Amino acid sequence: MIDIGVNLTSGRFHKDLTQVMDRAREAGVVAQIVTGTSVRASEEALELTQAYPNELYATAGVHPHDAKSWNDESAANLSALARAPGVVALGECGLDFNRNFSPPEDQLVCFEAQLALAVELQKPVFLHQRDAHEAFMPILQRYRPQLTGAVVHCFTGTRAELEDYMALDCAIGVTGWVCDERRGGELRELVKHIPAHRLMVETDAPYLTPRNLPTKPKGNRNEPAFLPYVIEKVAECRGESAEPLARQTAENARAFFQL
Ligand SMILES: [Zn+2]
Repeated sequence: MIDIGVNLTSGRFHKDLTQVMDRAREAGVVAQIVTGTSVRASEEALELTQAYPNELYATAGVHPHDAKSWNDESAANLSALARAPGVVALGECGLDFNRNFSPPEDQLVCFEAQLALAVELQKPVFLHQRDAHEAFMPILQRYRPQLTGAVVHCFTGTRAELEDYMALDCAIGVTGWVCDERRGGELRELVKHIPAHRLMVETDAPYLTPRNLPTKPKGNRNEPAFLPYVIEKVAECRGESAEPLARQTAENARAFFQL
Protein backbone atom coordinates (compact mmCIF):
# COMPACT_ATOMS: atom_id res chain seq x y z
CA MET A 1 0.00 0.00 0.00
CA ILE A 2 1.13 3.53 -0.72
CA ASP A 3 -0.23 6.55 1.13
CA ILE A 4 0.00 9.49 -1.28
CA GLY A 5 -0.84 12.17 1.30
CA VAL A 6 0.53 12.34 4.84
CA ASN A 7 1.25 15.52 6.80
CA LEU A 8 4.10 14.03 8.81
CA THR A 9 5.66 17.45 9.41
CA SER A 10 2.69 18.24 11.65
CA GLY A 11 3.62 18.93 15.26
CA ARG A 12 1.31 16.09 16.19
CA PHE A 13 3.95 13.62 14.95
CA HIS A 14 7.04 15.23 16.51
CA LYS A 15 7.12 13.06 19.62
CA ASP A 16 6.60 9.59 18.18
CA LEU A 17 7.38 9.58 14.46
CA THR A 18 9.54 6.45 14.81
CA GLN A 19 6.61 4.50 16.21
CA VAL A 20 4.24 5.96 13.62
CA MET A 21 6.62 4.76 10.90
CA ASP A 22 6.91 1.32 12.53
CA ARG A 23 3.14 0.92 12.71
CA ALA A 24 2.74 2.00 9.07
CA ARG A 25 5.30 -0.61 7.99
CA GLU A 26 3.58 -3.30 10.07
CA ALA A 27 0.26 -2.38 8.46
CA GLY A 28 1.81 -2.93 5.02
CA VAL A 29 2.24 0.70 3.99
CA VAL A 30 5.49 0.50 2.04
CA ALA A 31 5.78 4.12 0.93
CA GLN A 32 4.30 7.47 1.85
CA ILE A 33 4.33 10.88 0.24
CA VAL A 34 4.75 13.69 2.73
CA THR A 35 2.72 16.73 1.73
CA GLY A 36 4.54 20.06 1.51
CA THR A 37 2.11 22.83 2.44
CA SER A 38 4.49 25.80 2.75
CA VAL A 39 8.13 26.46 1.90
CA ARG A 40 9.12 25.65 5.49
CA ALA A 41 6.97 22.51 5.62
CA SER A 42 8.34 21.41 2.25
CA GLU A 43 11.89 21.76 3.60
CA GLU A 44 10.91 19.64 6.58
CA ALA A 45 9.23 17.11 4.30
CA LEU A 46 12.43 16.84 2.26
CA GLU A 47 14.43 16.31 5.46
CA LEU A 48 12.10 13.45 6.37
CA THR A 49 12.75 11.76 3.02
CA GLN A 50 16.45 11.82 3.87
CA ALA A 51 15.77 10.16 7.22
CA TYR A 52 13.61 7.45 5.59
CA PRO A 53 14.95 6.97 2.05
CA ASN A 54 12.84 4.84 -0.32
CA GLU A 55 10.04 4.90 2.22
CA LEU A 56 9.18 8.58 2.43
CA TYR A 57 8.95 10.92 -0.53
CA ALA A 58 7.89 14.55 -0.48
CA THR A 59 6.00 17.14 -2.42
CA ALA A 60 7.12 20.77 -2.47
CA GLY A 61 4.38 23.35 -2.50
CA VAL A 62 2.41 26.14 -0.93
CA HIS A 63 -1.17 25.40 0.12
CA PRO A 64 -3.83 27.92 -0.95
CA HIS A 65 -4.32 28.79 2.74
CA ASP A 66 -0.73 30.08 2.70
CA ALA A 67 -0.93 31.85 -0.66
CA LYS A 68 -0.73 35.29 0.93
CA SER A 69 2.87 34.50 1.92
CA TRP A 70 3.84 33.87 -1.73
CA ASN A 71 6.55 36.20 -3.08
CA ASP A 72 9.68 36.10 -5.28
CA GLU A 73 11.74 34.64 -2.48
CA SER A 74 9.32 31.78 -1.76
CA ALA A 75 9.14 31.11 -5.50
CA ALA A 76 12.93 30.80 -5.69
CA ASN A 77 13.11 28.65 -2.55
CA LEU A 78 10.38 26.34 -3.76
CA SER A 79 11.99 26.02 -7.16
CA ALA A 80 15.25 24.90 -5.53
CA LEU A 81 13.46 22.48 -3.20
CA ALA A 82 11.41 20.95 -6.00
CA ARG A 83 14.60 19.91 -7.80
CA ALA A 84 15.89 17.87 -4.86
CA PRO A 85 15.91 14.08 -5.16
CA GLY A 86 13.10 12.73 -3.03
CA VAL A 87 10.71 15.48 -4.10
CA VAL A 88 8.32 13.74 -6.45
CA ALA A 89 5.69 16.41 -7.15
CA LEU A 90 4.80 20.08 -6.89
CA GLY A 91 2.06 20.96 -4.42
CA GLU A 92 -0.03 20.77 -2.64
CA CYS A 93 -1.30 23.71 -4.57
CA GLY A 94 -4.66 24.89 -5.80
CA LEU A 95 -7.62 26.94 -4.67
CA ASP A 96 -9.64 26.86 -1.47
CA PHE A 97 -12.50 29.33 -1.40
CA ASN A 98 -14.15 27.54 1.52
CA ARG A 99 -12.64 29.71 4.21
CA ASN A 100 -10.41 32.04 2.17
CA PHE A 101 -7.54 32.07 4.66
CA SER A 102 -5.73 33.83 1.80
CA PRO A 103 -7.50 36.22 -0.58
CA PRO A 104 -8.63 34.53 -3.82
CA GLU A 105 -6.41 36.87 -5.90
CA ASP A 106 -3.34 35.66 -4.00
CA GLN A 107 -4.45 32.04 -4.35
CA LEU A 108 -4.69 32.38 -8.13
CA VAL A 109 -1.17 33.81 -8.41
CA CYS A 110 0.33 31.19 -6.11
CA PHE A 111 -1.46 28.31 -7.88
CA GLU A 112 -0.42 29.38 -11.36
CA ALA A 113 3.19 29.93 -10.36
CA GLN A 114 3.38 26.35 -9.05
CA LEU A 115 1.77 24.91 -12.17
CA ALA A 116 4.33 26.79 -14.27
CA LEU A 117 7.12 25.40 -12.11
CA ALA A 118 5.77 21.86 -12.48
CA VAL A 119 5.80 22.31 -16.24
CA GLU A 120 9.34 23.67 -16.14
CA LEU A 121 10.59 20.77 -14.00
CA GLN A 122 8.35 18.18 -15.65
CA LYS A 123 7.06 16.91 -12.32
CA PRO A 124 3.44 16.03 -11.55
CA VAL A 125 1.22 18.25 -9.40
CA PHE A 126 -0.60 17.38 -6.18
CA LEU A 127 -3.75 19.48 -6.28
CA HIS A 128 -6.13 20.82 -3.64
CA GLN A 129 -9.50 22.25 -4.61
CA ARG A 130 -12.32 23.20 -2.30
CA ASP A 131 -15.39 25.25 -3.22
CA ALA A 132 -13.44 26.69 -6.15
CA HIS A 133 -14.12 24.34 -9.06
CA GLU A 134 -15.23 27.06 -11.48
CA ALA A 135 -12.08 29.11 -11.04
CA PHE A 136 -9.87 26.02 -10.80
CA MET A 137 -10.84 24.29 -14.06
CA PRO A 138 -9.86 26.90 -16.67
CA ILE A 139 -6.42 27.31 -15.06
CA LEU A 140 -5.81 23.58 -14.89
CA GLN A 141 -7.10 23.17 -18.45
CA ARG A 142 -4.56 25.69 -19.67
CA TYR A 143 -1.58 23.96 -18.03
CA ARG A 144 -2.68 20.35 -18.27
CA PRO A 145 -1.28 19.59 -21.77
CA GLN A 146 2.27 20.43 -20.61
CA LEU A 147 1.98 18.80 -17.18
CA THR A 148 3.35 15.27 -16.77
CA GLY A 149 0.57 14.37 -14.32
CA ALA A 150 -2.03 15.83 -12.00
CA VAL A 151 -3.72 14.28 -8.99
CA VAL A 152 -6.68 15.90 -7.27
CA HIS A 153 -6.04 15.00 -3.66
CA CYS A 154 -8.80 14.43 -1.10
CA PHE A 155 -11.50 14.43 -3.74
CA THR A 156 -14.91 15.19 -2.21
CA GLY A 157 -16.61 16.77 -5.23
CA THR A 158 -19.63 16.05 -7.38
CA ARG A 159 -20.17 13.71 -10.32
CA ALA A 160 -19.80 16.66 -12.73
CA GLU A 161 -16.51 17.67 -11.12
CA LEU A 162 -15.25 14.12 -11.36
CA GLU A 163 -16.14 14.05 -15.08
CA ASP A 164 -14.24 17.33 -15.57
CA TYR A 165 -11.15 15.83 -13.95
CA MET A 166 -11.46 12.67 -16.00
CA ALA A 167 -11.63 14.75 -19.19
CA LEU A 168 -8.30 16.29 -18.17
CA ASP A 169 -6.75 12.88 -17.49
CA CYS A 170 -6.33 13.61 -13.78
CA ALA A 171 -5.76 11.03 -11.08
CA ILE A 172 -7.95 11.10 -7.98
CA GLY A 173 -6.86 10.76 -4.36
CA VAL A 174 -9.44 9.38 -1.95
CA THR A 175 -9.11 9.84 1.83
CA GLY A 176 -10.96 8.59 4.89
CA TRP A 177 -13.69 11.12 4.04
CA VAL A 178 -15.21 8.07 2.34
CA CYS A 179 -15.49 6.36 5.76
CA ASP A 180 -17.53 9.19 7.27
CA GLU A 181 -21.16 8.13 7.51
CA ARG A 182 -22.22 11.74 8.20
CA ARG A 183 -20.83 13.45 5.10
CA GLY A 184 -19.21 10.84 2.85
CA GLY A 185 -22.39 9.61 1.16
CA GLU A 186 -21.85 11.30 -2.19
CA LEU A 187 -18.21 10.19 -2.32
CA ARG A 188 -19.16 6.58 -1.49
CA GLU A 189 -21.48 6.65 -4.49
CA LEU A 190 -18.88 8.29 -6.75
CA VAL A 191 -15.80 6.16 -6.04
CA LYS A 192 -17.13 3.36 -8.23
CA HIS A 193 -17.02 5.76 -11.19
CA ILE A 194 -13.28 6.41 -10.82
CA PRO A 195 -11.41 4.25 -13.33
CA ALA A 196 -9.09 1.84 -11.50
CA HIS A 197 -5.95 3.17 -13.16
CA ARG A 198 -6.72 6.75 -12.00
CA LEU A 199 -7.36 5.95 -8.34
CA MET A 200 -4.95 6.50 -5.45
CA VAL A 201 -5.48 6.47 -1.70
CA GLU A 202 -4.30 8.66 1.15
CA THR A 203 -4.89 9.14 4.85
CA ASP A 204 -4.18 12.91 4.99
CA ALA A 205 -2.90 12.09 8.50
CA PRO A 206 -3.16 13.52 11.13
CA TYR A 207 -6.52 14.71 9.75
CA LEU A 208 -9.59 12.78 8.56
CA THR A 209 -9.31 9.77 10.86
CA PRO A 210 -11.34 6.94 9.30
CA ARG A 211 -14.55 6.46 11.23
CA ASN A 212 -14.54 2.72 10.53
CA LEU A 213 -11.58 2.09 12.89
CA PRO A 214 -12.45 -0.50 15.56
CA THR A 215 -11.41 1.92 18.31
CA LYS A 216 -10.89 5.65 18.25
CA PRO A 217 -7.14 6.46 18.42
CA LYS A 218 -5.72 8.69 21.14
CA GLY A 219 -6.55 12.32 20.44
CA ASN A 220 -8.38 11.05 17.34
CA ARG A 221 -5.08 11.45 15.45
CA ASN A 222 -4.98 9.79 12.05
CA GLU A 223 -1.80 8.03 10.93
CA PRO A 224 -0.57 6.19 7.83
CA ALA A 225 -1.08 2.80 9.52
CA PHE A 226 -4.83 3.40 9.10
CA LEU A 227 -4.65 3.41 5.29
CA PRO A 228 -6.07 -0.15 5.11
CA TYR A 229 -9.36 1.17 6.54
CA VAL A 230 -9.64 3.69 3.72
CA ILE A 231 -8.88 1.00 1.14
CA GLU A 232 -11.36 -1.38 2.74
CA LYS A 233 -14.17 1.18 2.50
CA VAL A 234 -13.30 2.21 -1.07
CA ALA A 235 -13.21 -1.44 -2.11
CA GLU A 236 -16.57 -2.07 -0.44
CA CYS A 237 -18.12 0.89 -2.29
CA ARG A 238 -16.74 -0.39 -5.59
CA GLY A 239 -17.88 -3.95 -4.93
CA GLU A 240 -14.27 -5.17 -5.04
CA SER A 241 -12.01 -6.86 -2.56
CA ALA A 242 -9.41 -4.85 -0.72
CA GLU A 243 -6.27 -6.71 -1.72
CA PRO A 244 -6.32 -6.14 -5.49
CA LEU A 245 -7.38 -2.55 -4.90
CA ALA A 246 -4.42 -2.04 -2.55
CA ARG A 247 -2.12 -3.45 -5.22
CA GLN A 248 -3.62 -1.41 -8.06
CA THR A 249 -3.55 1.90 -6.16
CA ALA A 250 0.08 1.25 -5.15
CA GLU A 251 1.03 0.55 -8.76
CA ASN A 252 -0.74 3.73 -9.82
CA ALA A 253 1.18 5.74 -7.23
CA ARG A 254 4.54 4.24 -8.29
CA ALA A 255 3.89 5.07 -11.92
CA PHE A 256 2.45 8.53 -11.24
CA PHE A 257 5.19 9.73 -8.88
CA GLN A 258 7.92 7.61 -10.51
CA LEU A 259 8.88 6.06 -7.19
ZN1 LIG B 1 -5.49 19.53 0.71
